[in-house]
Amino acid sequence: MKKDLFKLGIMGGTFNPIHHGHLAAAEFVREEFKLDEILFVPSGEPPHKHKGEITSPEHRWTMSLLAIGSNECFSVSSVEIDRGGESYTRDTILELKKIYGARLDCYFITGADAIAEISTWHKSENLPELAKFIAVSRPGYKLGMSKIDPRFRRCTYLIEVPALAISSTEIRERIRKGKTIKYLVPEIVERYIHKNKLYQGV
Ligand code: NAP
Repeated sequence: MKKDLFKLGIMGGTFNPIHHGHLAAAEFVREEFKLDEILFVPSGEPPHKHKGEITSPEHRWTMSLLAIGSNECFSVSSVEIDRGGESYTRDTILELKKIYGARLDCYFITGADAIAEISTWHKSENLPELAKFIAVSRPGYKLGMSKIDPRFRRCTYLIEVPALAISSTEIRERIRKGKTIKYLVPEIVERYIHKNKLYQGV
């Protein structure tokens, strides 16, 4: 008998830090697209970003692991961190296809601003054969298909997620100013950030 495809959501991002918006977006997409699992993949070295601009991969990976808690459909992967060098999405999808086996149906989920640039990604011409791309946007962010390169429109879905009103940038700014981040991130992540004195510098 033919086995069904395993539907994997690959939640790609810097997660600097992970917050409730990311978790709510992942759960929303899992339900909408009937995905079997959501794998959070914190970037090792995100392309287009300068070294030193972001917290270490180890801290971002640990916070992601703490954040997913007991959701049995969520897990965290260190493939990009372990691979080292720049984190190209194409390489990540190919690596996960090897790990999970051939009958894998991949949905790469990330922020709409990032997906709007997909045509500039490494070996982007192969991406439509490898996965579907789900661009999640925060309320008020206007992303129409017209902003997506025509070559990627058939494999791209656009979804607005109200909880994404929270952003990592805002969380880092609040910490720098000594303001509360309670209820923006899971309590266990909040404790980890304070214990390790993350994001306090300029
Ligand atoms: P980013 O510039 O840090 O983020 C862009 C926007 O998307 C921000 O508003 C961010 O909000 C949001 N965002 C990022 N990840 C998200 C997620 N999983 N769910 C919801 N919102 C998200 O983007 P990035 O993290 O560097 O890149 C996003 C993903 O695209 C990563 O997996 C990266 O490796 C991949 N990418 C690949 C290439 C390539 O292959 N050459 C190039 C660029 C990006 P927050 O700050 O609140 O998260």
